[in-house]
Amino acid sequence: MKKMFINIIISLVLILCISCGDVSGLEPPVLWETKIIEYKFEKDFEKYPDILIFFLEFFMEVETRVGIKFVEVKTDKPYTLNIYIGHNIGYSTVGKKLNPHIVIPVNIKRRQYGVMAHECLHTLGMWHEHQRPDVEDNLIIFWDRIIKKRIFNYNTLSSDYFPYDLKKYKYDYNSIMHYSSYPPFTKDGEPVFLKKYTGKIISNKCLYPSDGDWAKLKAMYNKFNKGK
Ligand SMILES: [Zn+2]
Repeated sequence: MKKMFINIIISLVLILCISCGDVSGLEPPVLWETKIIEYKFEKDFEKYPDILIFFLEFFMEVETRVGIKFVEVKTDKPYTLNIYIGHNIGYSTVGKKLNPHIVIPVNIKRRQYGVMAHECLHTLGMWHEHQRPDVEDNLIIFWDRIIKKRIFNYNTLSSDYFPYDLKKYKYDYNSIMHYSSYPPFTKDGEPVFLKKYTGKIISNKCLYPSDGDWAKLKAMYNKFNKGK
């Protein structure tokens, strides 16, 4: 009974967070320690074969590079990753959750495949690069240009949210988990942040994870290889 009540509360929180966009929930990520993720495409997916192919190819790449295996299932269980086609914006849960999900905008175009890869990396436990605790050493942020209800996508997080050696795996402007200087969440069309030492903008050209993203993912999951 208590568990059911907790699940209902979690679901309500998720629904509230979903309306904000991009990520749901705010807590340090739980990783998929078995390195197996069961997933399920929700109905209507067959109408979007290009998105389906993206996921299948991306899952294979994650398996090759990080050793995490994605297994398709037909029935829902706790911890089954549900992948939906949504309306306007993409969002996802971060790390292993009771009800993990990825929602892909229906109007996504091929050049926006980076959005799907970004959401997949959230699911694997990665938070935004510009939320690292060392962000102030790397960015000038214009907080007043960020729409208030999106600010949770920018708030600086502690090292607990980044389960790898932050000194070894450095801040990466090319990370697919880094927003551009001109995200949809800006008030006046001005850049919301600039690179600290050069004053340059961060462009939004990432289609796939950077080398740094893959290295961080490997560092996050290598500890689960011990004894195998
Ligand atoms: Zn995100």
